[in-house]
Amino acid sequence: MTKSIPLRLLVAANLFTTACGTKTFSMTGPFKALVVAFSRTNTAGSTEFAVTEKQFRTLTNFNELDGTYLTIKRGGTLGIRQINGSIVQADSFSGGSSPGLRYNVKSGVAIPMDYSTLAMLSAYYQIDEIYSTLEEKTGIAPATLQALIPGGKHIMLFEPQVKITGNGTDVTLGMKLNAAFSPIDKKFLLFQRSPVEAVPLAGNFQVLTHEFGHFIFDYSFFASKYDAKNRWADEWTLKGFNEGFADFVSWTFTDSTDILRASINIKKIADERDFGKTTFTFEDLSGDDPTACGGQFYCVGSLFARSLVQTWTAMQSSVTKKEMAAAVIDTLKLCQDDMTAMDVAILPIEKPATPVLTTAQSYERNGKIAGGFLRAFVLRAPTKLKGELCTAFKNNFGIHGFPQLARTGSCD
Ligand SMILES: [Zn+2]
Repeated sequence: MTKSIPLRLLVAANLFTTACGTKTFSMTGPFKALVVAFSRTNTAGSTEFAVTEKQFRTLTNFNELDGTYLTIKRGGTLGIRQINGSIVQADSFSGGSSPGLRYNVKSGVAIPMDYSTLAMLSAYYQIDEIYSTLEEKTGIAPATLQALIPGGKHIMLFEPQVKITGNGTDVTLGMKLNAAFSPIDKKFLLFQRSPVEAVPLAGNFQVLTHEFGHFIFDYSFFASKYDAKNRWADEWTLKGFNEGFADFVSWTFTDSTDILRASINIKKIADERDFGKTTFTFEDLSGDDPTACGGQFYCVGSLFARSLVQTWTAMQSSVTKKEMAAAVIDTLKLCQDDMTAMDVAILPIEKPATPVLTTAQSYERNGKIAGGFLRAFVLRAPTKLKGELCTAFKNNFGIHGFPQLARTGSCD
């Protein structure tokens, strides 16, 4: 039996009572709690969430929020060198304490007594859900990814203090950075909640599956050897493909292409990221200040995510979602070496710091790199997907994001 409270009622009823004291319960498993959970994507394409009683499957120590794949640490100080989209180059972490959960227990179910407790329990539950359904959704066995994590489990930092150690111009904090993934140490990061979020980011399955998508990109494209000095980690266009792939992974788990709206309902931002509804192409990203999509490399990502979902939609009578996800992941594993070996006429060499390129030169260069990536992707993709992938890539990337030379022998 599931008890469900719509989010708006939760807010209205002010579920959180003012608590005094910090009574610690010793819960015995299997553990149950009220968490913010994803319910479904409805027929109109909107995602629905509710505060719901859920049973954890991989949690072994309730009060420490520690289990098979994850431990949550609260607070501490995180040094950040660089931020690219929702990927963070963290270079130090100190402090951090037990979650300090505050809850009551009713009929064996933990009822959070404050926002932080609800957020941390919900975040744990999202990762629990991802690992429990990983193989069914993507074909990847949990143990395969687990083997890549230092210590065998992710650490998730909840609301750490952030210290910027890198070049300040590389770093934008605030609304843009609410949840992130740190590929070097496979940490997940949840920052101070934003005043604009509706569904708390910590409980937003769409956001956490996106962050988890970065981990899978790290596993597949980077062969688990993500390094900030790796050329492809630093290429603008590849940052975009990484973001787009993360959105595709989120869709794989939720059926929704509308990744941000549930948490950040600022129409312009949410609309621009809904890759099922946007219609801009790579051509629309030229110029200094493109109006079709202002999210920089995220926009390239949306074109990739859209192409993948269009390909699956065209083939859904013969390809399951799981097959599609597994095919994309297996193809990504083969792209990096091909790109590195690609003829410079197709894929430009690494960009020297000088001379500084003009906007038009950057656009052309980024388009060639997109083309090189798409070329490698199509050549390595399963035969039965190639035709639809070519159609989608041509439609979305046009001749500037998928130049003729890159198409030759792959999509001609
Ligand atoms: Zn991201």
